[in-house]
Amino acid sequence: MEAISKNFFLYLSNNKLLDRFAKRFGKRFGADKIVGGETFSQAIPLIQQLNHEGLQVTVDHLGEFVNCEAEARDRAQECIRCIQSIANHQLNSEVSLKLTSLGLDINRELVIENMETILEEAEKRGVTVTIDMEDSSRCEATLEIYKELKDKYENLGTVVQSYLYRSDKDLDELDACKPYLRLVKGAYKESGKVAFPDKESVDKNLKHLIKKNLLNGHYTAIASHDDAIVDYTKKLVEEHDIPNERFEFQMLYGMRNQMQKDLLKEGYNVRVYMPYGEDWYGYFMRRLAERPANIAFAIKGIFCK
Ligand SMILES: Cc1cc2nc3c(=O)[nH]c(=O)nc-3n(C[C@H](O)[C@H](O)[C@H](O)COP(=O)(O)OP(=O)(O)OC[C@H]3O[C@@H](n4cnc5c(N)ncnc54)[C@H](O)[C@@H]3O)c2cc1C
Repeated sequence: MEAISKNFFLYLSNNKLLDRFAKRFGKRFGADKIVGGETFSQAIPLIQQLNHEGLQVTVDHLGEFVNCEAEARDRAQECIRCIQSIANHQLNSEVSLKLTSLGLDINRELVIENMETILEEAEKRGVTVTIDMEDSSRCEATLEIYKELKDKYENLGTVVQSYLYRSDKDLDELDACKPYLRLVKGAYKESGKVAFPDKESVDKNLKHLIKKNLLNGHYTAIASHDDAIVDYTKKLVEEHDIPNERFEFQMLYGMRNQMQKDLLKEGYNVRVYMPYGEDWYGYFMRRLAERPANIAFAIKGIFCK
């Protein structure tokens, strides 16, 4: 049953017609519990509150299916305005972005140009940028661009997904550029040709990647709401005497709020991933796919507004 519901919501997340419908009719369907607002200004007080509680943040301007150059350039400008706002409001926040929103599906030069403009501003303002990882068809291009840019810009991270068979080798190939990596299980619908089909292998591989990246000496963000992964990391860092400055836990805005606070109390660094923007649809559907319990607040959202 869980697999059917997961596939159903992952299928919906890619439906461009529903995406347009959701944007046009704008009902939030409970999305406001996990999205920081439709504009960055709306997200600012929420980020300030999280910072006040001791939580760090990374913000993501939601947006998928960008397939024209002008829109990709607009997205880059929005990122730049966001970086400037972070600096002006002295927010403790990084920026996360997706290369498809900057033109990955259009042409490589456009993405590089957009990324360089963003990274110049980010470097000037002392803000770190992380490139989210999208579906497996974009993985190779994303990592190639990451390696190229990381040579020039220190303040750049990316993501490796443990459901992909290739990820262990990717870690080896990233080693030379001293990557800043967020390690996750992976959120897209993938075929058994490229990804482990069962949760047990995905979890096992995530533990393996966390250990490998930390022992390679690279800063690691462990992005998971799973107690087993968090507990594994705690034991690992204790065993290997890895100080808290070398890693952080990351969780999505609105998910496991109590766990975020508990980790803070224990002295760990915790960062909250806060998406904002009008394009909440695909993000929201992937979250419904991950956890059937999220469907409850979606239904509440429909009937209680
Ligand atoms: C900060 C962040 C950034 C991410 N960036 C990317 C990215 O760039 N690319 C990408 O593909 N994916 C990304 N993801 C999504 C990720 O790949 C997973 O799809 C997602 O995190 C679900 O996996 P999980 O490890 O959290 O737990 P799951 O494997 O979904 O759940 C395991 C167990 O954890 C517990 N649990 C999980 N969620 C909750 C909850 N909300 N409340 C209570 N218990 C819960 C339950 O006991 C559950 O059985 C990101 C995730 C995070 C947190």
